[in-house]
Amino acid sequence: MFEAQAGAGAVLRLIRDAHATTRAQLTLTTGLSRSTLAERVHSLLTLGLVNEVSGPSTGGRPPATLEFNPTAGVVLAAAVSPTFCRVVVSDLGARPVAERSYEGPMMGPGVLQTYLRATLEHAQVPAQRVWAVGIGVDAEHEPLLREDLPVLGDAPVLVDRRVNLRALAEQWTRRQAVDHLLYVSVGTSIDCGIVADGRVHHGARGTAGELGHIGVPGHADVPCACGNTGCLEAVVGGRALVERLQAAGREVATPEGVVALVHAGDPEAVRAVREAGRAVGEVLAACVNFYNPGAIVLGGELAAASEPLLAGLRGTAFTRSLPMATRDLIVTATRLGEAAETTGAAVMAIEHVLAEASVNRLVHRRDNGH
Ligand SMILES: [Zn+2]
Repeated sequence: MFEAQAGAGAVLRLIRDAHATTRAQLTLTTGLSRSTLAERVHSLLTLGLVNEVSGPSTGGRPPATLEFNPTAGVVLAAAVSPTFCRVVVSDLGARPVAERSYEGPMMGPGVLQTYLRATLEHAQVPAQRVWAVGIGVDAEHEPLLREDLPVLGDAPVLVDRRVNLRALAEQWTRRQAVDHLLYVSVGTSIDCGIVADGRVHHGARGTAGELGHIGVPGHADVPCACGNTGCLEAVVGGRALVERLQAAGREVATPEGVVALVHAGDPEAVRAVREAGRAVGEVLAACVNFYNPGAIVLGGELAAASEPLLAGLRGTAFTRSLPMATRDLIVTATRLGEAAETTGAAVMAIEHVLAEASVNRLVHRRDNGH
């Protein structure tokens, strides 16, 4: 191997991804000597991150396999909206162990901290067992939260935008098949979360994914809240659809109302949503050519009207993209529901604490008796 010797973190990664699960496979893959590999495995066994499972006793004694043990610790995951907060205690495999929801304004000093502790108490999990905390928040509330970050012992606290965590959750559920994914939220606002190689892509200033403010040709007369004109969100976002349908005489006030009209078979609403899908698809076609994602997942209030939205989107996104870029491209509506944000927050926390360097540090601390 050209790089430095594989540490315990790298060995854990191979076991977690099921790329190598016996000592023989791990020796071969890492290039470590058998004795060094045995040391790495011993450290992981001691930390409880790995279990050794002997093969079935009948016939030929197959070698014992090493399995990741997601119950070695827990992470706390929270999704914070202006009026609602969901907190989940999750194992290291992003499976929820306990969950609580809280209503009311979230951003007062220490409120989130209170909710985190209350959820732990409810789950009867001592705070020392929490390896990390992941929090999803709206872009506009992020600075507020960062001023008043909850503290839970030594556990690192990670914060990201909710749309990014939804993208991360979508990729996590497809992690055997898809490394690069776009999550597109179509509702009152149009946002996008980008996952590249299994990680959220934030950009230089954290504004990557502002799909809603990409200009749509032919709409220079439509003003957008951002100060520009002809933005995708201003042309076909939830508010624009509501106004269009109101002008056509429909009684509708919200994107959810638009979805209800679509489900009732209102032809004007179906047409409006399909056209919105087409416009989103035109912008996404450029993204597909530029970024070559393996999957595009649609969410947001209007995704509940997924049939006409997806039809419009597929129509343009596929015809206007390079065939090579769309050969295996998955375009689908989300099926994750409300749990997506806390799942993404849990994944963010888990990937932080189980990153190679973090695991190597854990092993080092344990070896040195801390
Ligand atoms: Zn705009």
